[in-house]
Amino acid sequence: MTTTAPSLSATVGAGGTNTPDDVRVVQDLLNRAADAGLAVDGVCGPDTRQAITTYQAAFLRTPDGRVDPGGQTLRRLAAEVRDQKRSPRSDPATAAGPADGLRLSPFPGHGNGHYAYSAPERQYGTDTMLQLLTSTAAALHRVGLEFGAGDISFQQGGQMPPHTTHRAGRHVDLRPLRTDNARGPVSLGDSRYSREGTRTLVEALLAQGSVRRILFNDAEVTGVRHFAGHDNHLHVELGQ
Ligand SMILES: [Zn+2]
Repeated sequence: MTTTAPSLSATVGAGGTNTPDDVRVVQDLLNRAADAGLAVDGVCGPDTRQAITTYQAAFLRTPDGRVDPGGQTLRRLAAEVRDQKRSPRSDPATAAGPADGLRLSPFPGHGNGHYAYSAPERQYGTDTMLQLLTSTAAALHRVGLEFGAGDISFQQGGQMPPHTTHRAGRHVDLRPLRTDNARGPVSLGDSRYSREGTRTLVEALLAQGSVRRILFNDAEVTGVRHFAGHDNHLHVELGQ
């Protein structure tokens, strides 16, 4: 944790120099500013390049996939992370940190209407969360679909890298639906992305009444909100 502004020695991203130290700085910023979920490994692979482009799409008409030293993308990332530190209370779950004596319950990895794409120790939620996921799975199962559930929280809550949220069992990442119903990742713009299926998922989630907001970048899906880094998963947050 440093208080100085993050800086780069050279360009990261498409056609960039991509020194490992610089790439790590950018990966960490994208994770904190946009919940990008990147491994901070210093390697500028397809996921990192995609996350840069996705992040830029919120403010650039033609994202170039590059983060330049002193450039606009770096300044925005740094400002966003700085603002998060300054006003951590904008997200109660983040501000609270691990609650005293927090005991969360496991969401079963596989069942009718759902499967898991993260480790069991990362899939603990509050009772309301489990209720939400169970009911949503039942609704999808009735129409022959299923969703993939990723990170929720650890059993005792607390920080779950690379997320800034996911600390108290009230946030979950879900995969968009695929046209082939296969258990795999899919992103907006992929030919196998199913808008229809994803709409069904969002409707089932919202029908429970416990959801505060869903971050996802398909403007054609009613009930979701655009947020950088959310082309390949829906970030679902419970209300209080
Ligand atoms: Zn998330």
